[in-house]
Amino acid sequence: MLPESSVTLDVEDLRPNAGLPERVVDATHRVLDLFAQFEIRATVYVVGDLAERRPELVRRAATEGHEIGLHAWTHVPLPTLSPRDFIRDTGRGRALLQDLSGQEVVGYRAPMMSLVPEAGWVIPLLSELGFTYSSSVLPAPSPLYGWPGLPRRPFQWLGGPVEFPCPVVRLGPIVLPYLGGTYLRLLPVAVRRFGLRRASEDEVLWAYCHPWEFDPDEPFHQHAHIGELASRIAWLRRSRMERQVRRLLSDPVGPPLAEVAASLGIPVTSLEVIDPERVAPRNRMAQWTDGRLRED
Ligand SMILES: [Zn+2]
Repeated sequence: MLPESSVTLDVEDLRPNAGLPERVVDATHRVLDLFAQFEIRATVYVVGDLAERRPELVRRAATEGHEIGLHAWTHVPLPTLSPRDFIRDTGRGRALLQDLSGQEVVGYRAPMMSLVPEAGWVIPLLSELGFTYSSSVLPAPSPLYGWPGLPRRPFQWLGGPVEFPCPVVRLGPIVLPYLGGTYLRLLPVAVRRFGLRRASEDEVLWAYCHPWEFDPDEPFHQHAHIGELASRIAWLRRSRMERQVRRLLSDPVGPPLAEVAASLGIPVTSLEVIDPERVAPRNRMAQWTDGRLRED
């Protein structure tokens, strides 16, 4: 019997310019239709500026019982932001999603898993802004964004939220986020099941995917921030995605991550505590105290 994987969807519009047709609405409805067909509840992380433009996507996902989380205000890597902009944008993103969904929004996912040591200053701010958990780190080396050395099981950031690291499996010399959309599309289903069997019992397993992966007819365009090669990979074999996700949804599916976080209890005493300052440059840590930003 395979362990449960929670299912997450990162709703984002990666068109390089607004002159191209907007495909994210139809693609998101297609994914939500699939979730409804399998009667599963997922965590749906939505980019704030897309939620503002297309509030119906958030309303539908919330009405159908999915958890709504924030996938940043705009889809840019965390290290490119200033603490001041991060606080303003993340706060308004959370408030907007709460208004649209009627839920308390407690989950945060960084764009492109870009919670890396250089962006460690966001960790205390996430708690200040009301997030109880994050699923924003890849605990392995990565050509894009990774934070090697972090545990694979959930942990508590010192002064910050609980973190559910992206599940990874070692295959020979490489460590793969085997439940991620690209890997679901490109690799045989046996790799996912191998990873699940290798996972230890104290890991929280979650898969992630994106609406654009269910859109095989989209012409190729280069995404911002990830370069030509990764953009090409993001475009490959999309026609396979729905079939692969149907298989994923036929295997045991776990609850939305907010429910996993709530089940840990507050305060969380069962988790390892990780001090981000031990791995983040100290002078980049920021604190928001009594409504004011303090940058050391
Ligand atoms: Zn994203």
